[in-house]
Amino acid sequence: MTPEEFRTAGHELIDWIADRRLAIEQRPVRPNVEPGDIAALLPVDPPDGGEHAAAILHDLEHLVAPGITEVQHPMHFGWFPSNASLSSILGDVASSGLSSLGISWESSPALTEVEEVVVDWMRSLTGLSADWSGVIQDTASTACLVAMIAARERATEHAQATSGLVGFGRPLHVYTTAEAHSSVRKAALLAGFAADDIRLIDVDEFSRDMMADRLADQIKADVDAGGVPAAVVVSLGSTGVTAFDPLPAVIEVVRPHQAWVHVDAAMAGSAMLLPECRHLFAGVESADSLSWNPHKWMGTILDTSLLYLKDPEHLIRVMSTNPSYLRSTSGGEATQYRDWGIPLGRRFRALKLWYQLRIDGPDEIRQRLRRDLDNAAWFAAQIEVRPDWDVVAPVRLQTVSIRHVPPELRGDSDAISEHNLDWVRRLNRSGQAFLSPSTLDGGWIARVSVGVETTERHHLQRLLELLDSYAGSR
Ligand SMILES: *Cc1c(COP(=O)(O)O)cnc(C)c1O
Repeated sequence: MTPEEFRTAGHELIDWIADRRLAIEQRPVRPNVEPGDIAALLPVDPPDGGEHAAAILHDLEHLVAPGITEVQHPMHFGWFPSNASLSSILGDVASSGLSSLGISWESSPALTEVEEVVVDWMRSLTGLSADWSGVIQDTASTACLVAMIAARERATEHAQATSGLVGFGRPLHVYTTAEAHSSVRKAALLAGFAADDIRLIDVDEFSRDMMADRLADQIKADVDAGGVPAAVVVSLGSTGVTAFDPLPAVIEVVRPHQAWVHVDAAMAGSAMLLPECRHLFAGVESADSLSWNPHKWMGTILDTSLLYLKDPEHLIRVMSTNPSYLRSTSGGEATQYRDWGIPLGRRFRALKLWYQLRIDGPDEIRQRLRRDLDNAAWFAAQIEVRPDWDVVAPVRLQTVSIRHVPPELRGDSDAISEHNLDWVRRLNRSGQAFLSPSTLDGGWIARVSVGVETTERHHLQRLLELLDSYAGSR
């Protein structure tokens, strides 16, 4: 493809993307497809090459796009807001267009330095102190894995450089709760912690927040038995019902043991942009690492996950491929982001944030988050006054967990659970709105996650009507 051909095809593609956004409400939220349907539309044999880009755009429109679950649709209330602001998409295009190679500072000085600056802008916009240094990771899952590896090496005094975990010989414990995201357990296992040594601390039965006194009891029992508390993963805004573990109390408990405290605020971290929400993140300055995803509610397109560290030097010693990894890296050397995580080559992801912050601006982003908080509170209030409906967990931010209890099913928890799964599935299949079914205490409920960029109050009004009609008809 020549640059001139690229220009023509590129303009067509951008027009197509803009048109899709304009017409998004005319499409179903969830495509009406079964596994294998999309693949069956595509040729089995690879192309010979030589096709015109217009033919591909045609197939994108007719074969591929109808197979997308439209998470940018204003009636999408599933999982979490996976916003992709158009401003950040421009940054993604710019990143591809620059086509630089991020394997070292020298391979693209601007990639490293724009990232340093933008990550620091984000630090200051979220009210974090200058004691933090940050890096962009692909996802919060990777950020947690990186934190767990760092924790392991701190607890074992760099056992990786000698006899590893086998040589260390004592059980290394990781503490979290059953409400933590599945990526937390995965990260701990991948970092080499034993499944038997991962402790799920009891939670408050309504809020689902970790109970710090139970954490203290468990740590004491483990230490008495010869174990080492290596890490605590604190969820600030858990996936299920937005639980906030009590970070200041956890810090108090953990401090004498020097376990690594990693804060997983993947979804809720966007709320740190709002000064009135920062109380939810109290204690964060005493943690060792913090990650959150601008690629969720804030709306920077995937994959943009921020990882902040108090002691990046420690991480660099753990991750560096330079044999003299124990050398000090301070002293005016350029940042080598390959030593802040797992991959060698990295994309110019900072441009996504750079574009979004400069075009949309922090104030517009904050206004949108406040609108969503208002909408979620309004929606929860509507559910609470409706007969036969319950809000089943506290509404900490923008997620409302609900359950429908028809009078004839009262007292029969199995039937209530089945009924809720059934109406959510029927509603989702209709394509008119999308909610995530979720389990709470072993029974099905529905999560309404508010916060798509285009969702306004009238969309929630429409959702209420859909709830009445789908849950009311069985
Ligand atoms: C979404 C989420 C994750 C995982 O995020 P990825 O970036 O997809 O890995 C982890 N923790 C919490 C609390 C989340 O909401």
